[in-house]
Amino acid sequence: MSVAEKFRSISPAEFFYRNKEIAGFANPARALYQSVRELVENALDATDAHGIFPDIAISIERDQNKAYVYRITVKDNGIGIPENYIPDAFGRVLFSSKYVLRQTRGLFGLGAKMVVLYGQITVGEPAEIVSATINSKKIYKYKIMIDIKENKPIVLERSWWQNKTGWHGTMVKVAVEGDWSKARQKILEYIKRTAIVSPYANIVFRSPDGEIKIYQRVANILPPPPREAKPHPHGVDLEMLKAMISETKAQTLIEFLSDEFQGVGRVLAERFISTYGFDPNINPKNLSKDDLEKLVRALKEFSEFRKPRADHLSPIGSELIKIGLNTILKPEFTDAITRKPVVYEGHSMVVEVGIAYGGAIEPLEEPMLLRFANKIPLLYDEKSDVAWKVVSENIDWSYYDIVFPAPIAILVHVCGTKIPYKGVGKESIAEVPVLEHEIEEGVRHVARSLKLYLAKKQKEEEMARKAITLIKYIPEIARALTVFAKANPEPIQAEVLESKLFDLVKNRFGDSLKNISSPRDVVLSLE
Ligand code: ADP
Ligand code: MG
Repeated sequence: MSVAEKFRSISPAEFFYRNKEIAGFANPARALYQSVRELVENALDATDAHGIFPDIAISIERDQNKAYVYRITVKDNGIGIPENYIPDAFGRVLFSSKYVLRQTRGLFGLGAKMVVLYGQITVGEPAEIVSATINSKKIYKYKIMIDIKENKPIVLERSWWQNKTGWHGTMVKVAVEGDWSKARQKILEYIKRTAIVSPYANIVFRSPDGEIKIYQRVANILPPPPREAKPHPHGVDLEMLKAMISETKAQTLIEFLSDEFQGVGRVLAERFISTYGFDPNINPKNLSKDDLEKLVRALKEFSEFRKPRADHLSPIGSELIKIGLNTILKPEFTDAITRKPVVYEGHSMVVEVGIAYGGAIEPLEEPMLLRFANKIPLLYDEKSDVAWKVVSENIDWSYYDIVFPAPIAILVHVCGTKIPYKGVGKESIAEVPVLEHEIEEGVRHVARSLKLYLAKKQKEEEMARKAITLIKYIPEIARALTVFAKANPEPIQAEVLESKLFDLVKNRFGDSLKNISSPRDVVLSLE
């Protein structure tokens, strides 16, 4: 006789408690990295996406008594969190202000809670949050834990004080079990790469060993803040359509289509409706289940809608990419391109590619690949990312005169309201053909400009070398001239001729002659 199965459902908090690996908290090292990452991404979302130049301070301290306990503090000067939302923002899994169609770093309404939850189950201390919104008269402080079974915040302490300096922003402090020595390299790399794509930010990091990294703001422009977009008809599914219908104020199908979607005006809505034989005046709330299914299919199929808009996206821009690469990698050459928007499942997407070559970059056997999605550095699962396929398989570098080992870095940034990540960990991007094509075109563009640069440099060096060879013969020529110029009582001075020619050469080829300061050096360098 079999015993009856017991059925019950679990709360989202319990689900993530049981499955923390899928959110990136698999082991102490990875969890420390992921915690820093989630808090920093929230800090950036609260600043640059709202037109604020970010000032971000990150610190990780090791507990005096327990070596496995680390306190992470991340402080920003962002928009802050309205007081009444603080507990849910940090204590209710799947609570977010980012469930709208807008390009943000956060996405799942999960990050901050995972950090709190992970801290709670490994160390048992509550998370501390201090926050003030813009113009708030008060600064609020909360200590929060999560009721895992009920998926709701437990507020252990709430206090406030006067905001005398007009500060706004958020500070989050969480104690988690970690492993700094194993996570160190990844965390430092994460912060460095964040600095590359946000040269408009001040970022300060203090490690448990007291090591301090400062990335100072070097750009005074911000990328355009992302804006919320209406869904495009090609990007909706049945659930989304139902949700939209339940919220809309439109009384008729035709109004619903032209008001709630992008890419659909009144005229297109009419044409769509007559093509598929819907009733233009039916209240969308009265559509039957069959009608809804038919509508979703038709919306996906109809090819005359305008393309999804991309003006609500927030690409970094080629200028900032070049500034970032120059500042952090100190190469001798950079270039970058922002490609035109493309469409993926009804969402627009923009690909940006940057290149940095030479200078302080170390020659490697393959290009150093810097991947970003919505400005987040992606450090894990590199080999399964579409960008890796492009730089390692699709591109024949010898065509661009690059022979490995070569000092070359390629930056790939994909931004959009929907990124085709391969997993919940958001670490690699799938091989979607339109994306692969965009990345490849972008890489080819910057590789071509590197090729031109290298060709020009080589040509200049050759010319300089030729000039130098000529200079070497000057004394001889001068002597010969003197001999020939017997008729002339004044002999030609070799030194005079030499330095005249040297000045000429130096003016034209100054850069390639850095180590040469006199005609003698020229001759010596050739001997
Ligand atoms: P997500 O970032 O995916 O929305 P999180 O759990 O990381 O989910 O954060 C939940 C919400 O808390 C965010 O949507 C945001 O509204 C708020 N929040 C978290 N951190 C900050 C911060 N540093 N500044 C302002 N708001 C924040
Ligand atoms: Mg987040």
